[in-house]
Amino acid sequence: MSDVANLFPGVKVILIETSHPGNIGAAARAMKNMGLTELVLVNPHDYPNQKSIFRAVSAGDVVRDAQVVGSVDEAIADCQLVIGTSARDRRVPWPMLSPRECGVRVAAAAEASQKVGLMFGRESRGLKNEELQKCHYHVNIPTGEAYSSLNLAMAVQVITYEILQGKQGNPEVQVEWDRPFADAAAMEHFFVHLEETLIQVDFHDEDNPRRLMTRLRRLFNRIQPDQMEVQILRGILNAINRLHKRISS
Ligand code: SAH
Repeated sequence: MSDVANLFPGVKVILIETSHPGNIGAAARAMKNMGLTELVLVNPHDYPNQKSIFRAVSAGDVVRDAQVVGSVDEAIADCQLVIGTSARDRRVPWPMLSPRECGVRVAAAAEASQKVGLMFGRESRGLKNEELQKCHYHVNIPTGEAYSSLNLAMAVQVITYEILQGKQGNPEVQVEWDRPFADAAAMEHFFVHLEETLIQVDFHDEDNPRRLMTRLRRLFNRIQPDQMEVQILRGILNAINRLHKRISS
């Protein structure tokens, strides 16, 4: 694919378990229109399919070059900023961005060479709560009250349009930092380690979780720790694990 088409290297549009090949093609077209070309498909139901290529028109290359992966974790592993799109309010509210704020943030992150993942859900059921909990931010496209769920490719169009607009720049968004931000794979390892440790010290009861891990995920994603901060947190957990072993042996 030619580099001129990609104005946002490192920014991935991630479509999760898409049912209709036409939506994949239409999403690819929406992306290329707005200068994005990195498409990731998580377990697509029907891919490859000529219908996607037809609907993409001159963005057939985006469809053909799409990366196909088997899990959301794999799709976002290297992403330092993960944003999920959702038509509905969820029970534990998450930090929200308007489409415009999302566009400015993503454009600024791309400018600072950060890897970004934008997650779009299933036509039938959207994103699962566990997928939304992997995000730093959620974005909702405001709609009329009667019908809040956009067609998947239309949602991709609105979000990518705002990213291209956001490239015009907004100096108030600070994304420069002295260390690279932790990616989703490092955060996932940290969350597993944190949960194991909290169980070990009897703080967390797996049989009565009371949304503890959801709240802790939200807390740490809100902070957006850098790689060194996550190493320090892991070091603290290791110290607790060692002490616990010593005391209980
Ligand atoms: N019926 C599903 C919506 C699926 S629409 C539900 O109730 O959750 C398919 C995808 O398009 C969604 O997962 C989301 O990624 C995107 N989308 C649709 N409408 C949206 C909106 N108003 N705001 C943000 N994303 C939206």
